[in-house]
Amino acid sequence: MSSEAIIAAEQRHTAGLYPKRPVAIVRGEGARLFDAEGRAFIDCVGGQGAANLGHGHPAVVAAVQEQAARLISCPEIFHNDQRAAYLAELAAALPFPARLFLCNSGAEAVEAGLKFARLLSGRTGVVATMRGFHGRTMGALSATWEKKYREPFAPLVPGFQHVPFGDAEALAAAVDHTTAAVLVEPVQGEGGVRPAPAGYLAAARRICDERGALLLVDEVQTGFGRTGRLFAVEHSGLVPDILILAKSIAAGLPMGAVAVHERHGPLPGGAHGSTFGGSPLLCAAARAALRAYQEEDLPRQAAEKGAWLLEQLRAPDLPAVREVRGLGLLVGLELKSRVQPFLGALLDRGVLALPAGPNVLRLLPPLVISYEDLEAVVRAVRDVLREGRGARQDEQD
Ligand code: PMP
Repeated sequence: MSSEAIIAAEQRHTAGLYPKRPVAIVRGEGARLFDAEGRAFIDCVGGQGAANLGHGHPAVVAAVQEQAARLISCPEIFHNDQRAAYLAELAAALPFPARLFLCNSGAEAVEAGLKFARLLSGRTGVVATMRGFHGRTMGALSATWEKKYREPFAPLVPGFQHVPFGDAEALAAAVDHTTAAVLVEPVQGEGGVRPAPAGYLAAARRICDERGALLLVDEVQTGFGRTGRLFAVEHSGLVPDILILAKSIAAGLPMGAVAVHERHGPLPGGAHGSTFGGSPLLCAAARAALRAYQEEDLPRQAAEKGAWLLEQLRAPDLPAVREVRGLGLLVGLELKSRVQPFLGALLDRGVLALPAGPNVLRLLPPLVISYEDLEAVVRAVRDVLREGRGARQDEQD
């Protein structure tokens, strides 16, 4: 099928929710993606954060092939060898002792985290942050800040409020004896690539402890090596009550996980569940992925490559740029104008990149990207920002 035929067929039959770019991707290898005609692109979209391991990782491919032939589904009313092994391996990799719930996406993991917080605290309030993004299902959407995602679906779940991200005083003022959960990202991803200011997460921990609220950390985008540690909470030694994971957990297959601190004990049987959660196929993929992150030292690679990328992009000769921010290979360039035209111009130069809000250019390459490809990305970004050309239709996160 040609790119033209693929695009026409999708446009005819899709529900239409996604404004799409005029490109049809059919194959991937490492940090490269290829269209139907074989044209190569450097991938700085990274499956919107699901492809930290790159495309076609041989260990993941082998694990998926082998497990698909052996057993794909096994609901959690039974035990399973792959699930048992993965639960133990993920628990060992976490920076705090935890019990795990496995599900299928970021929003679903956030939903579960919110439900567990209400269950464990016996309270209902949730304090989230301005510019925070947590997903589009009704509970996760209630915690998401951006108006354009929320307004068409009101009324949302009651009990949610938003405070300015990074402002410990505002957080202290909002959290009280009715608060079940404080929900925060260590680096706001969709909200513009904004790392939490120093001391903010520790203050959130203190405030939650003082008021008896649970601290929920959403690492859907920051987890699995992205920020230079396996989990972003490790930068500050923060110990959450509930850690929320998804995206790159199973190397791009749809999976999420919720880690509840061991001190809360097991959750009541029957309180929550998922048909596909913890399937042997996903657990086999997640095992291979976790082993690859660890054996290939990908968090360290993300730290080094990210520091290099930030340094290259912080050059003083780019007047179109207001600020360059990031942690590891989660990098954002806040522009003085809208980002959309630049994404189109980058695509024309063979680089796929993301927005993070209206005026932030976000780079989210697989952690396995080569320095050669990163150099090509820097050249392309610098060129298009100097030229300031191109125009494409708007795109959502
Ligand atoms: N939380 C965060 C921090 C995210 O970045 C995202 C997705 N961008 C989500 C939750 C929702 O994940 P999903 O799209 O898998 O539902």
